[in-house]
Amino acid sequence: MARYKDAVCRLCRREGMKLYLKGDRCYTDKCGISRRAYAPGEHGQGRKKLSNYGMQLREKQKAKRFYGVLESQFRKYFEMADKEAGITGDNLLRILETRLDNVVYRLGFGASRAEARQLVVHGHFLVNGKKVDIPSYLVRMGDVITVAEKSKSSSKFKDLAESFKGNTPNWLTADIENLEGKVVALPSREDIDLPIAENLIVELYSK
Ligand code: SF4
Repeated sequence: MARYKDAVCRLCRREGMKLYLKGDRCYTDKCGISRRAYAPGEHGQGRKKLSNYGMQLREKQKAKRFYGVLESQFRKYFEMADKEAGITGDNLLRILETRLDNVVYRLGFGASRAEARQLVVHGHFLVNGKKVDIPSYLVRMGDVITVAEKSKSSSKFKDLAESFKGNTPNWLTADIENLEGKVVALPSREDIDLPIAENLIVELYSK
């Protein structure tokens, strides 16, 4: 499975904003963008004026990086979104948001999407009672996500209740004591708090 393996703080610096890719570190003064608030590379501190295409491209890159998705998969999601009824941009964000790794992160079981992805890959979660170790698995309304019985006593999950931040989005419910979450609705655009201008992504792919 292909994955971005370079320094992730560079991605935030490239987008000029915090993408929260490193969990708790992102909220400290060790955050890379707090220390060096300019784009990486030789010309990172130069002035830049983006063309329309440049803005569309940056918005697509930002969305990919928030969700940790590579180009080919992102393109597939766009094609799925385009075939569905409704607004393509909203559909695209809903599809991304319902990836299992994102749901695990949103439920508070992982400190970042990257950590959530790793937890999924390592087989720590069941969906409706069956083990699912595919981060791109798309959850559906009514799905119940549970930490596998054998994982509940691991250091990662044992003390989760103490660090639980309780900011579960409206479309999910989290039962942190029982290490369980439920998809009670599919997310609408208003439920997704990410600063992404999805219309620019649609424009980019519609050329
Ligand atoms: Fe981005 Fe987090 Fe690194 Fe800050 S610490 S630059 S928010 S990944």
